[in-house]
Amino acid sequence: MHIGFLGLGNMGGPMARNLLKAGHSVSVFDPSNQAVAVLVEAGAQAATSPAAIAQAQVDAIVTMLPAATQVKQVYLGQDGLLAHVRPGVLLIDSSTIDPLSAREVAAQAAAQGNPMLDAPVSGGTGGAAAGTLTFMVGGEVADFDRAGPILAAMGKNIVHCGASGNGQVAKIANNMLLGISMVGVAEAMALGVALGMDAKVLAGIINTSSGRCWSSEINNPFPGVLENAPASRGYSGGFGTDLMLKDLGLATEAARHARQPVLLGAAAQQLYQSFSLQGNGGLDFSAVIKLYRKEA
Ligand code: NAD
Repeated sequence: MHIGFLGLGNMGGPMARNLLKAGHSVSVFDPSNQAVAVLVEAGAQAATSPAAIAQAQVDAIVTMLPAATQVKQVYLGQDGLLAHVRPGVLLIDSSTIDPLSAREVAAQAAAQGNPMLDAPVSGGTGGAAAGTLTFMVGGEVADFDRAGPILAAMGKNIVHCGASGNGQVAKIANNMLLGISMVGVAEAMALGVALGMDAKVLAGIINTSSGRCWSSEINNPFPGVLENAPASRGYSGGFGTDLMLKDLGLATEAARHARQPVLLGAAAQQLYQSFSLQGNGGLDFSAVIKLYRKEA
């Protein structure tokens, strides 16, 4: 298959590389010449604009962009994809954006004969490199089936979540819970240690008891509990606080539109926001435990 790929950042770069590895022909665009050069080195063809990707004889186009502003610009802009793409070309947006924007862009694409799926991912940069991402996909079943071979080259779990926008709904609901659970684990670990418990023993109890969750077991925020967690290397690598903040912002904004209360989601957003303001936006989000502890 010939696939167009736009947005070759921390996630998109390795994802496009996996499409090449699977034997697809890939045309790429990114405003960063360096990001394009790396993919060309790996066998991709360079394009100079979104329009050039749309005008190449592609069967499908995948986008992996920072936020809704760029997604709207790339698809709906004057010289964007929709203005130039042939009818029938399958469009897949894997960026994490709000469900309303995803539905709006997909509706405009469908109106001109281009099926479009929202297919945000979880699994981080490690999953992108290893080709083991989870794709949460919203859109028509027939289009989901058509996207199968493309998504399978980049991911392991590919789940149809329902109609257009529902991939984004699944993504932001999961990440809101993750943001909340990390704060909960941080609070409990800090309390236990302040009251005299050994952090490793406490984590062991939690992880064999009812408080167990991903944030306690796989990414425990207390330094030294897990050798390979970001907490044990100064909170470097991992999932940045500012990325968590972005996803909590999407969740609370979507909740506002739906008039749905997200009491803990909003509180977690404010915690990460003040933590980011203190200059910690680049640290793994588990570093939020610093709000509860005196610096050693
Ligand atoms: P990134 O900032 O590393 O990459 C974004 C890329 O998009 C950059 O290379 C940038 O030059 C490019 N870009 C910007 N404007 C563009 C345009 N108009 N046309 C084409 N390319 C353009 O971001 P990332 O970490 O790769 O994340 C991409 C998306 O994936 C985001 O929506 C993010 O929330 C989501 N996501 C990230 C992670 C993660 O761990 N990094 C995990 C899951 C989901």
